[in-house]
Amino acid sequence: MKKKPKYGFSTNAIHAGQQPDPSTGAVMTPVYLTSTYVQESIGKHKGYEYSRVSNPTRTALEKNIAALENGKYGTAFASGMAAIDAIMYLLKPGDHVVMSHNVYGGTYRAAKMVYENYGLSFEFVDTTSLNIIKNALRKNTKMLFIETPTNPTMEITDIEASAKVARRYKITTVVDNTFATPYLQRPLELGADIVVHSATKYLNGHSDMLGGLIVTNDSKIDEALRFTQKAIGGILSPFDAWLCLRGTKTLAVRMDRHNANAQRVAEFLAAHKSVKKVYYPGLPDHPQHELAKTKMSGFGGMIAFDVGSFRTANKILKKVTVCSLAESLGGVETLISHPATMTHASIPKKEREASGVTDGLVRISVGIEDAEDIIADLDNALM
Ligand SMILES: *Cc1c(COP(=O)(O)O)cnc(C)c1O
Repeated sequence: MKKKPKYGFSTNAIHAGQQPDPSTGAVMTPVYLTSTYVQESIGKHKGYEYSRVSNPTRTALEKNIAALENGKYGTAFASGMAAIDAIMYLLKPGDHVVMSHNVYGGTYRAAKMVYENYGLSFEFVDTTSLNIIKNALRKNTKMLFIETPTNPTMEITDIEASAKVARRYKITTVVDNTFATPYLQRPLELGADIVVHSATKYLNGHSDMLGGLIVTNDSKIDEALRFTQKAIGGILSPFDAWLCLRGTKTLAVRMDRHNANAQRVAEFLAAHKSVKKVYYPGLPDHPQHELAKTKMSGFGGMIAFDVGSFRTANKILKKVTVCSLAESLGGVETLISHPATMTHASIPKKEREASGVTDGLVRISVGIEDAEDIIADLDNALM
């Protein structure tokens, strides 16, 4: 299953899918702002006919992400949600999907409010337990959709063990790898069939575009995804593809810094008297710390911590100056948010609190600033 790529991760991040422009020698892949391509004669062209179907800047990014995930085929979409949508077209009315219970809010919303209207059914379960996954499978289960680590409490699912069970029943395993990125975790190597990203987050890394990426080793799945790009049209624009290509070049160095900064911030928070609980896979008391240590090559940049009440959380969020109060994650800048009123506001309070998303929970996407400045900012806000 695990084939060793020819080049290392950082070399692929910088070069895969890209060659100097043949007509000018430009080192950077140009932004091909064109809708159509001249054809020499009927049916004779250079591989490009119309930009919904394919565009050279998008092709470069699709090849780049495929290399990073150590997979064969990549496809790029207008957003993470557009990519997840394309995956849902692989299913048919009557099909059943088992999903991680703490999936991204937008994924949950699309499942309940869009796809259930078209004959699909979903069961949201705690995928950190293999037994719970097994018990959720039905005769018509066609897809296992895992997100790991999850937002905001950083639960980690064993991709390898789950995909093995799914394979036994011919169920397609999909992993949303947005939080970990291929630098820390490569689901295809662990047996998953499809890996999906919100490229908006770490892959682009600069909070200046939206995008979605999918990688698979299965040519039939890739063919279906390409058909959806052509038939439905939720494709990534050339300019956003270019921004994301520019982002992935520095993914390895950014992730190293995100990991190092987050570990320091998490340890600072865990030792602080005003903090009740810290959720970070890099802390030894995290329930899946050992699993993360063996199956991931770093713990990532996302942390959640509980300060006990809405009042305290609100006070902290008002007081921070280096950390910016905002939704989203994965950029070079540190973002801080309040899941209960922001990303998880649509989940009923009882359900929300049962999964750890209390009114006192604060989430940080630790950026790549100087760790001392992030810590001093939090220290000041926690006083
Ligand atoms: C943001 C996010 C998405 C959705 O991606 P968009 O680019 O915002 O459409 C999906 N999954 C996860 C884990 C995310 O964080």
